[in-house]
Amino acid sequence: MKVYFKELTLSTSTQYELIDITYDVEKAVRESGITNGICVIHAPHATAAIIANENERGLVQDILRRIKELYPRNAGWQHDLIDDNAAAHLGSAMIGSTRIFPVKNGRLIRGTWQNIFLVEMDGPRSYRRVVIEVLGE
Ligand code: ZN
Repeated sequence: MKVYFKELTLSTSTQYELIDITYDVEKAVRESGITNGICVIHAPHATAAIIANENERGLVQDILRRIKELYPRNAGWQHDLIDDNAAAHLGSAMIGSTRIFPVKNGRLIRGTWQNIFLVEMDGPRSYRRVVIEVLGE
């Protein structure tokens, strides 16, 4: 089995933001030379997440709105007593910081309207990382 590892570094410009990383993930799959296996996409952060969905401007706003509705800021969270970002931690914990896609015939298997995003919930940040690991043969 081959293992290919790549790390993206990103900066974010607002508190809540979706950053489309589909191009970079598919590029990593091509670079890996792996034809059949899986691709792990992981954000090593406690206040960000990884999702897959359509990159349509309205839907992007809908997703961010729903995240804010589900995990509102300043809602009396205990963590806010020491670090004013409990909402972002909750979003990261519930949405998840890792997604896995199948790789078949050298290509990531995803739906046409299934782009891959880093979900920033505690920006702006000058340094966010996304780890892409491709495993297979
Ligand atoms: Zn915190």
